[in-house]
Amino acid sequence: MTQTLSRHEQTLLEKTSKRFTQCYDRRPSLAAIAPGRVNLIGDHTDYTDGLCLPFAIDRYVVLVAAPVDEPRITLCSSSSRDRQHIDLTERPLPTVGNWSDYIRGVIEGLAALDVPPTGLQIMIDSDLPSGAGLSSSAALEVGAAHLLLAATGKHLPTADIVSLAQQAEHRYAGVPCGTMDQFSVANGVHGALMMLDNRSLTADLVTPADEDLAFLVIDSGVKHDLSDGGYGARRADCEAAQVALGKSLRDVSVADLERAELGDVPRRRALHVVTENARVKDMVVALEHGDRELMAELMYAGHASLRDDFQNSVSEVDLLVALASDLHDEGVIGARMTGGGFGGAVIVPAIEAEVEHVAGVLTNRYAQATGINARTLVVHPSAGARSISEALNS
Ligand code: ADP
Ligand code: MG
Repeated sequence: MTQTLSRHEQTLLEKTSKRFTQCYDRRPSLAAIAPGRVNLIGDHTDYTDGLCLPFAIDRYVVLVAAPVDEPRITLCSSSSRDRQHIDLTERPLPTVGNWSDYIRGVIEGLAALDVPPTGLQIMIDSDLPSGAGLSSSAALEVGAAHLLLAATGKHLPTADIVSLAQQAEHRYAGVPCGTMDQFSVANGVHGALMMLDNRSLTADLVTPADEDLAFLVIDSGVKHDLSDGGYGARRADCEAAQVALGKSLRDVSVADLERAELGDVPRRRALHVVTENARVKDMVVALEHGDRELMAELMYAGHASLRDDFQNSVSEVDLLVALASDLHDEGVIGARMTGGGFGGAVIVPAIEAEVEHVAGVLTNRYAQATGINARTLVVHPSAGARSISEALNS
């Protein structure tokens, strides 16, 4: 298959290959690339069969490798000083409490599907911020799966890669995530968002009619580890609501919630999910019609629902959304938090020609209020993860 890489992807690949050679004193022969993802709307809906609207972004984890004749994988990453070693004779692979666990989980997942691992030296580089809610962990998992598959010459359906990467995150990183992250990283399409139905695990592509649309992502600089309980607690609340209602939140209406005998907390969590599923459908319409007013309304309503009913926002993130809404006349279309919550990033659809100006004003005002220098990224819907080994030799 011919590999076409954007100039940016090609530059990253060359940089990662150079690092590989510096590290291992040889040239790589295998490569894979995996984008991060951001979710425009539809948060905390994925594990109750709901809808979300993510897209893969043009920020990536790149992995390059060369085979070795011993049952061992050596890992270097530009974001870590320490080399990691995985002894492939040890089965099942233990977790060791660092970033190599993501790769260990992927190796186990592949082995369970009859793709036994082979010895490799691997170098990982990235321009995707890690821990900012942009799914660098899913990019690492899905990218590693493509790299390890390329090393064996085997193929797996994308759905299997998504599933094994998700299992790696559950079992090896202790994060009980839904399918959205790995799905969007694996299935991204240039220029399109994906309305993902987490019940059927199928996605409809959504191409914005508005060609002047850019997406600004602002990292609040506040991080809470998603394995520390907040995510799991919200998930448990949703599951409790489903048990009490006797059906999936996907099939629940606001009227059902009003009638049901539910405690205040599960009712609020469920109300967020039920209204969020509706907002995703409405956002598809807004995007396909280029209806900026409707987009704005849905973005702010989505944020308020997370803040007040799902209660997974933090004050810095709320402030960023409020500061963005003040710039409505300067190019901001809307704003909401995105990702698992408890810190992380805000997504701001904005008019392309104004987006750099908006980013500058927002970060200045945020820094004045909080003392935090927020990192901003302007992102575009991008293609999903794939092997790019052929591009190494072109
Ligand atoms: P997010 O997925 O939102 O970026 P997570 O906390 O889920 O945040 O995942 C971040 C973790 O993924 C990092 O702490 C690190 O362990 C791992 N990781 C991501 N990118 C890389 C990389 N390029 N090299 C090594 N580890 C990485
Ligand atoms: Mg993650």
